[in-house]
Amino acid sequence: MNELDLLRNIRTAWVSRVLHMARGTSLRDDFRDQIIQFFDKLEQAIESGDNSWLDEVLILWASSLTQTDLENENVVLPEFIRELSFLTYSVLRDNLSPDDALTLFDVCYPVLNYAFEKSAQLETKARVAYVSNRLNQVQQTLEKLDQSKSDFIAVAAHELKTPLTLIEGYTSMLKEIQPSYETPQSTTLVEGIHTGVNRLRAIIDDMIDVSLIDNNLLNLNFQPVWLNRLLVSLKLELENITRSRNQSLEIADFPGGNEMIFGDPERLLQVFRNILMNAIKFTPDGGHITVDGRKLPGFIEITFHDSGIGISLEDQQAIFEKFARHGNSALHSSGKTKFKGGGPGLGLHIAKGIVEAHGGAIWVESPGYDEKECPGSTFHLLLPARQEPPDAKVAKVFAPLIQTKKTEG
Ligand code: ADP
Repeated sequence: MNELDLLRNIRTAWVSRVLHMARGTSLRDDFRDQIIQFFDKLEQAIESGDNSWLDEVLILWASSLTQTDLENENVVLPEFIRELSFLTYSVLRDNLSPDDALTLFDVCYPVLNYAFEKSAQLETKARVAYVSNRLNQVQQTLEKLDQSKSDFIAVAAHELKTPLTLIEGYTSMLKEIQPSYETPQSTTLVEGIHTGVNRLRAIIDDMIDVSLIDNNLLNLNFQPVWLNRLLVSLKLELENITRSRNQSLEIADFPGGNEMIFGDPERLLQVFRNILMNAIKFTPDGGHITVDGRKLPGFIEITFHDSGIGISLEDQQAIFEKFARHGNSALHSSGKTKFKGGGPGLGLHIAKGIVEAHGGAIWVESPGYDEKECPGSTFHLLLPARQEPPDAKVAKVFAPLIQTKKTEG
């Protein structure tokens, strides 16, 4: 008898043993048909010498792996094929003469081995697909959450804007009529309301900026910009604060700083202000802040270095996320300019949004967070040295300036 005849001889015994082995496990109704199909394919593979005859049934089994199978760490399909191989060996031994059993086992073995490897491949593929599908779902949920957070910020900011405008109006009216019944207390009270309203206005404006950035709605108003002039004007604006904190703020006359480039001056000023206000806040009284820069091909890099408390390595990326407040939050005092003064954690997220809208990048370097040693932080800002505004209409308005620069260059 040849191998195929031997194989056909054990068919009934083999099928009933497999069904017996699989009893008690949660079998699907068509399992019997599938087992018969597997045996048929085994036969075809042996006859043709092509193991891939088994692929169809193996693919079917891999696709029927349940969520529990895929979440479980144990391999399912290769384990089942391994049991099938043992069972085949014992059916051969029980139903054939030792010689015939050996002959048939010799031809079955490579095919079953192929089935084992193929099933391992298919199961791994199914697991990878399952995990990436789960990851996609998680990602979608996170995106939805982030969107609801942005929506909430946008709605809250706009809802708060109306009553705030009313308070602002009444406060300035109060300030105007106040001299007629002025007392030392009333002046302090009105000043107090005014400061509070300004703080609230700044927070609401930040919230609106965050929602513009998160929804890709930030529009830049490109104009000629001289970075050094912006920085020097900011130094003047912050002079009272740095003086009160006994801090030095140096602006170096760096290469590229006095060149005309195109950018949104208001927005760039906002970025520099956010970075410098943080440098002031997170540097102890008497500390130093220096702004320097250099020209790179197509870009200007500005660095803001402070001798402050520094930022831990793990926070160096996270601080650019919205609502990021790091270090020991219990140590945060309130106040916009006080040492370690608190803030809503929007400043750097906005700075990043504005810089990226310009086509630039922002990152920070710091040896770590240490309030005693104060290792300091350096914020890097890479801005494209745009020679023309992106909008052709705006370019027309500034054509003479652009032309002069080109002839000078
Ligand atoms: P806020 O200042 O409102 O908390 P920011 O987005 O401006 O929000 O900053 C986020 C966090 O990054 C700050 O709370 C602080 O922990 C950290 N940080 C920013 N700049 C510095 C700096 N120069 N030195 C140390 N920590 C800083």
